[in-house]
Amino acid sequence: MSRVAFIGLGNMGGPMAANLAKAGHAVRVFDLVPAAIQAAADAGATPAGSARDTLADAEVVISMLPASRHVEGLYLGEGGILDAIPAGALVIDCSTIAPASARKVAEAAAKRGLQMIDAPVSGGTAGAQAGTLTFIVGGDEQALERARPVLQDMGRNIFHVGGNGAGQVAKLCNNMALGVIMAATGEAIALGVAHGLDPKVLSQMMAVSTGRSWATEVCNPWPGVLENAPASRGYTGGFGNDLMLKDLGLAAEAAMGVGASIPLGELARNLYAMNSQAGNGALDFSSVVKLVQRG
Ligand code: NAD
Repeated sequence: MSRVAFIGLGNMGGPMAANLAKAGHAVRVFDLVPAAIQAAADAGATPAGSARDTLADAEVVISMLPASRHVEGLYLGEGGILDAIPAGALVIDCSTIAPASARKVAEAAAKRGLQMIDAPVSGGTAGAQAGTLTFIVGGDEQALERARPVLQDMGRNIFHVGGNGAGQVAKLCNNMALGVIMAATGEAIALGVAHGLDPKVLSQMMAVSTGRSWATEVCNPWPGVLENAPASRGYTGGFGNDLMLKDLGLAAEAAMGVGASIPLGELARNLYAMNSQAGNGALDFSSVVKLVQRG
């Protein structure tokens, strides 16, 4: 068992830290939101007063923050914690951020003699709660082997896809496909409903047909189709529209960097931007269906 510092206890980080505590790790936690710290403490973690305060004698430092600027701010910004991380500790950033940011922080860590991997996740809040996440890892093989016992207590699948930053590239590829598929699924169900079809029956049919996907089977965008999907609880508690918008922006940047064409990814990015402008930025990204729902 390890002494773990865990920073960022939102929709994903909260249940991930709770699973580590449940597995027997000594977990010290911090978030800017006091209620998130309290929830993790209720699940068996030890609350800390600041990010720095999580670090005393930590063997593993894990961050799960919204975007590049938060991760760079935490490690490298004014009062950044990189200098305070104990020698020999392993740093794991699970946030989805720009590959260039991941490389920048990993290089700064290496200069201090610290090993760091990017390990963004897939599996959503349900996967975070159930401890069935997929980790998509960029970094040294040996650093991944050090991380494996901790990652295994939060997830089921671990993929090593390359050096630092490669985990982020692979994650962006996955989320670009997801963003496109969610928007397409919502559009298809809206068309059926406009013709008087029952969205539940339509979704059940699609879930065993060639239109099947995570968007039909697990996170169906139509309210009432799946009891446990964000759509059935007012699009709360899932993967935020603005986080998907961020990921599609990162995918666009990554595409420009190598001259790749991503016509559907760009279209999807515009749809999530429109959904954000419609006031749905904080809702689950499946709320993109609202753009095509009638009445
Ligand atoms: P979230 O907004 O729910 O949580 C982020 C947390 O970080 C918040 O509680 C915030 O207070 C905290 N935070 C921000 N800056 C901080 C700082 N400097 N110090 C301490 N805490 C700080 O986001 P989330 O849904 O948990 O997502 C986290 C990351 O995981 C994002 O990069 C997202 O793209 C990715 N992700 C999310 C999902 C999902 O389904 N929600 C799935 C896969 C990946």
